[in-house]
Amino acid sequence: MESFDKIKQQLLSLREEYTKRIEAIQIDSHHKEEPVEKDFAEQATQRENDDVLAALDDEAQHMVLQIDTALSQIEQGGYGICTSCGEAIPHDRLQAAPFVTLCIRCAEKTSS
Ligand SMILES: [Zn+2]
Repeated sequence: MESFDKIKQQLLSLREEYTKRIEAIQIDSHHKEEPVEKDFAEQATQRENDDVLAALDDEAQHMVLQIDTALSQIEQGGYGICTSCGEAIPHDRLQAAPFVTLCIRCAEKTSS
């Protein structure tokens, strides 16, 4: 039985990093609740910023979700197994990105 202690540590620190990022984004987007008296150009810039923040927020939340999935797989078993095809995910892939839940083949399929 293989131990994933090191990977678990990696995942936990990644999770902390992303959680902090989400908090920072949320604090940032609270800032804009000051009285809106801006001209159109400024408003447009603000909206673009919000879109960027929202995208970053989504991405970070998605990451936390993936990390949580990986962590619960470590706890309950099934970690390192592709959730799509059931093949073992190569160790070097897990080491490079411990939160992946798909093997390279399936990841390529879903991203293309
Ligand atoms: Zn697969």
